[in-house]
Amino acid sequence: MIYLDNSATTRPLDAAVLAAREMLEENWFNPSALYGQAVRVEKKMDACRASIASALSAKPDQVVFTGCGTEADSLAILGAAERLRGKRRVLLFAGEHPAVLNTAAQLAALSQEVELVPATDEGVIDLDALSALLNERVGLVGCMHVNNETGAVQPIARVSRLLQEKSPGALLHVDGVQGFLRVPLDLRAAGVHLYAVSAHKVHGPKGVGALIVSKGVKLSPRLAGGGQEGGLRSGTENTAGIAAFGEAVRWASAQEGAPERLRRMKLLLFERLRESIDGLRVNGPAPESGEAAPHILNVSFPGVGGEVMVHALEAEGVLCGTGAACSSKKREMSAAFRAMRAPRWAAESAVRFSFGFLNTIEEAEEAAEAAVRCYRRYQGFQRR
Ligand code: PLP
Repeated sequence: MIYLDNSATTRPLDAAVLAAREMLEENWFNPSALYGQAVRVEKKMDACRASIASALSAKPDQVVFTGCGTEADSLAILGAAERLRGKRRVLLFAGEHPAVLNTAAQLAALSQEVELVPATDEGVIDLDALSALLNERVGLVGCMHVNNETGAVQPIARVSRLLQEKSPGALLHVDGVQGFLRVPLDLRAAGVHLYAVSAHKVHGPKGVGALIVSKGVKLSPRLAGGGQEGGLRSGTENTAGIAAFGEAVRWASAQEGAPERLRRMKLLLFERLRESIDGLRVNGPAPESGEAAPHILNVSFPGVGGEVMVHALEAEGVLCGTGAACSSKKREMSAAFRAMRAPRWAAESAVRFSFGFLNTIEEAEEAAEAAVRCYRRYQGFQRR
């Protein structure tokens, strides 16, 4: 099997699985208890906090563990919105993941006015449009780090500078689920107040995420309870998942040149497809450009449905996604595709190949050959 659906989820590292197992078998104590065994568990959680923080040039005490990336986004947006005194406007990038976009109804219930910031045709936030929307009444802006479908890297530092100029005091939330460890970001230097990550996208387990909260930012918790995680996320922590997350982050952070390796694999796949397939369309920024993430390639195969390609590739042992273009099982075009005004055919024919740290260059080569074979097999059946 060649697994190229790493933006959906990644295979947990062996070391992460071992770390989780060790926590479940030996270090299963409640980290809030007072005895030595519990303190040991707490120290393991703190080691994970330190690894996440270090990858983002943040401090360990800024890391709040959550149950997933979605929960981290909710805590950031709704938790911040409850504290926005008088600033009634929230701007969200139109290409966000549903974890962010679908908070809009809850924001409206908090009397916030939500407005969407449009994207360019490449799926990058339109900075002129953002600038025109910003004013003193904007309290919060959400702009993701890397788009999960197109791999478009958003200009976070420039977004932040615009906020400081035109909406001083407004908070910037960045959904970093697809960018963390693959596109470097120094949260302080970039002026990010809130940053969401998820373990299962970086070879950790499902069911663990974290929100990195910059100093001085006040949030209202979403859950009432025992006050764990500095009162921001009550509920006994998923200590096994957190230990495994820590192991994955430490390992990934130690892989010298990993983003460059991801980019080499992606570009090899892209070049082979471009050479062999007339009219291949890239959904998102040009793959060689700095605006394209190193690990995601979203392309449309003219005349062949994305689902047909995905199943044909599966039969060849290559697993990838439909670009989430038609939100997997749903028929409508996804928010990211709508935001960049992609034609319907592009959404219907989109395939997302996403690389992870465990892929090899040989796999990229084999996947390219398989994709060309599949395309040739089905292009004759295209709709006219
Ligand atoms: N944000 C982005 C950009 C994502 O790609 C995903 C998952 O696909 C999420 C948030 C949600 O993360 P989780 O699955 O941990 O809830």
